[in-house]
Amino acid sequence: MATTKVKGVCRICEKEYAASSLLRHIKTHLTKETAPKQNDTHFLIRANAGHHYMYILAPLKSHLYDLDHFLRNYWMECCGHLSSFMVDREEIDMDQMMRKIFYDGFKCEYVYDWGSSTYVDIEIKGAYALPNAPKELSILVRNNPPDALCGQCEKKQATILVMEDYYNGKNPFYCADCHDEDTEYYHRVTNSPRMGVCGYDGESDDDEQEKISIS
Ligand SMILES: [Zn+2]
Ligand SMILES: [Zn+2]
Ligand SMILES: [Zn+2]
Repeated sequence: MATTKVKGVCRICEKEYAASSLLRHIKTHLTKETAPKQNDTHFLIRANAGHHYMYILAPLKSHLYDLDHFLRNYWMECCGHLSSFMVDREEIDMDQMMRKIFYDGFKCEYVYDWGSSTYVDIEIKGAYALPNAPKELSILVRNNPPDALCGQCEKKQATILVMEDYYNGKNPFYCADCHDEDTEYYHRVTNSPRMGVCGYDGESDDDEQEKISIS
């Protein structure tokens, strides 16, 4: 519900950068060792949803369903809804290996839940030779949690979101102390583009924010 993109911490060097300079920064890590294209091992994937973003490193051998699981884990999963990767309204087969589908500059849209849909723009920002990078999909950078102050006391971090207030044009953010416990429907404040949608409460987000080694 914030409108500007917040900063993110690079998990390779653990320094913080503005959203607009992150891609350039990440590439300084990835392109240090130049190698013939056939030695490429990983794609750099940017996932973008409103003011939320993730830069993901993915082995070329991963499948699209791996990216689906990944996005569900950190951003999406509420009740096991259907999801798809779409190009020009055509669905891409999730059983495909990334290297069969993705290339530098490739774009598609990920849709989670065909009812209350959440959309993610996927873009491939190059392939790189990183033989020592993680063999699983991993987050290189993720936007810092957006600031959400309690709209009542305006002092504490909000942990509770009341969508009814949001729809009525009121400040929907509450800290635990200011939140009226009789409110029937509320969500947890989460670092996800699906915050406040359907039953999403961020239960599956097990981001340990670990440093990543690629060399
Ligand atoms: Zn860095
Ligand atoms: Zn749901
Ligand atoms: Zn408060």
